Formats: sequence, structure tokens, C-alpha cells
Amino acid sequence: MTAKPDIKSLYRDELAKLCDQPYRADQVLQWVYQKNADSFAGMSNMPAALREQLAAQFELNAVHSVHTRNASDTTEKFLFQLRDRSLIETVLIPATPGLTTQSDRHTVCISTQVGCAYGCKFCASGLEGVKRNLTAAEIVDQVVHVQRLSGERVSNIVVMGMGEPLANYDNVLRALRIINAGWALGIGARKMTISTVGLAPRIRQLADEPMQIRLAISLHGATDDVRSQIMPVNKKHPLQELLDACDYYVNTRQRILTFEYILIEGVNDSLDQAHKLGAIARRLRAKVNLIPYNPVDGLQWRRPGRDRCKMFAHTLKSHGITATLRTEKGTDINAACGQLRLQRQNVGMPEHTVADQ
Ligand code: SAH
Repeated sequence: MTAKPDIKSLYRDELAKLCDQPYRADQVLQWVYQKNADSFAGMSNMPAALREQLAAQFELNAVHSVHTRNASDTTEKFLFQLRDRSLIETVLIPATPGLTTQSDRHTVCISTQVGCAYGCKFCASGLEGVKRNLTAAEIVDQVVHVQRLSGERVSNIVVMGMGEPLANYDNVLRALRIINAGWALGIGARKMTISTVGLAPRIRQLADEPMQIRLAISLHGATDDVRSQIMPVNKKHPLQELLDACDYYVNTRQRILTFEYILIEGVNDSLDQAHKLGAIARRLRAKVNLIPYNPVDGLQWRRPGRDRCKMFAHTLKSHGITATLRTEKGTDINAACGQLRLQRQNVGMPEHTVADQ
């Protein structure tokens, strides 16, 4: 059996070349991205013969929803199955949950690989290694399906789900270009953030892309000894190499950088690390997102107490840094990457809930 191309992996001009009459491409794209069509058969303004032909020629759905969970804070988590039965996770995060003023900002957190090869010691996604890269269609389709299932229009994308996006560079960039395109989802590049474990050569490559995507670095340690303890990738691309690449990124077209820093008790939460992080962030004019560690079943790490987290943030701010201490969303649905999938695979494992803070 030869595989049919996934329609959501194609740019408009590639699709037009595959259609008998190029204007049909726009009609099909309308159905796929504006009307969220679930089947070619349902594309009712097209001749039946053409609908059949399209169905024979292309795959329409690359993901299939198998599970949805709602957190008490209105974060919604989706477990999607791919055609090879692999499972991936996608999360819908409203901007201001629980507030009376309705926010029109809806952020989707998407996955880019099945599993992850980088084995960060605190993360559920890497526990079983990486199985494969997602195709562009599998990445785009997460957003299309979340829109269809939730009835919400997605305005922001964070590439912070399962996998290392820069290790699947070509498919991720293709997917983001499609998500950005006016003929598809029309989400602005500045509304997209790629989060990376710190693949320095790929950060330089991203800096040279014309698209103005935002970049977040999972730093989690301000010195090589602390960072290497929890992120094996630091041995391959140590801090100096990573920060040089960040420097290049920031100074190419004046882009903004964010550092993500998980706070883990007794590992990276010392005030010495806070001062060193402050100096690094100041040099790169970067913002810092502090995230109290979200416990993962089977891992021994703990989050520091509230006072320690606040003190860490305060120390950073004394360096003139914009630092936010994130109050996590979705902890009661295991929304940290890889957790829902892990639970689904380890059948029989009790539900693990963390009290909202
Ligand atoms: N591979 C990319 C994107 C996926 S991880 C990266 O490393 O950035 C997205 C973010 O979630 C990263 O900052 C990661 O460090 C963080 N994360 C992973 N496990 C976590 C946990 N248990 N608690 C809090 N944050 C976690």
C-alpha cells in the first residue's frame, strides 16, 4: 500500500499542483481550515465525484481524539492517537481562567515528537525515549482538532508539548508556516513560541528564518554543574555554547528571548543560582518564567516551598529582570508534558492529583 499524502502537510501551491483544477485547492482548504471538515464526503459544495477522488488521493485526518480531560481551572487536555496508534498530547489553555472578565486569548500547547530523546531528569516525556518525529500534518492537525472539539478559536501556539521541536526542525517549521498562512489558520508568528532544550546549532538556524517566532529556552540551571545534573543535553551543548547561540538569536532582528526555569527543591533553587541566572538574563535582555516543579509519578524531585520560590523571583528582580512566578494551570489533569500519555500507557496506575495552589 502506498501512503497517501496528508492534506495538512501541504502548502497551498503544492496542493494546487495535485488538483486537476487549481482553484479547487482553495475550496478544499476552506473546508479543511475554516469549516473544520471531518471528511471529504462532507464537503458539500463540491461534485460527488471530486469528493471521492480527493478521498482516494489524500488523507484528511492525521490525529484522532481518544480522551479529553477538563481541569478545574478550565485548562483542557487532549490525548490524540496517530494512524500508527502512537499517542500524543495537546493542551488548550485559556488566558485568564477563573476571572470574571472573559478572555479571548486561547493558547494551544502542541507536541512535536512521540516521546523525547533528551531524557531531562524531571520530565515525563523522556522516560521511554523517542519513537519518532511527528509529520507536519500531525502537528497542524492538533490545532485543527482542538478548535473543532472545543469550539474555540485558537490565537496563540506554544510548542511546549511532548518532544524536542528543534530536533524535528523541518516538520515543525513547515507546520508553523501552515498554521501562520492566511489560507490555513492565520495565526501570527509573534503569537507562536518554540521551547527548546537548547540545541545551539538549531537556535542559530531559527534566528536566520524570516518568520518572527518567539523562542523560549529551558534553562533550569545557571551553571554547567547544576544544569548537567538534570539535563544531559548540557554535556553536548554546554552553557557557553548555548548562550552564544542565544546571543546570536537576540541580536538577529532584535528578537525577544524567554528563559524557562523549573524550580526543584535542593537542586537548582539556591539564591546563588538566582544571582547567576539574573546576570545571564540581563545580558541577553531575556524574561524569565519560573515554574515550580510539577511532580511526576516515579520521579523523586519536589517543588520548593512557596517562600523559597518567591525569594528566588525576588532575587532575580533585583537584577532588573522581568520574572514571573507561574501559578501552574492544569496540574490536576497532569498537564505537564508527557503525563497523561504515561498514565494511559501504564494501565491500572492510580490517578495522581496534585492540589492546586
Ligand atoms: N523539549 C522542549 C519542549 C517540551 S518541554 C523543551 O525542553 O523546552 C516544555 C517545558 O515543560 C520545558 O520547559 C520543560 O522543562 C517543562 N517541564 C517538563 N517537565 C516538567 C515538570 N515535571 N514540571 C514543570 N515543568 C516541566
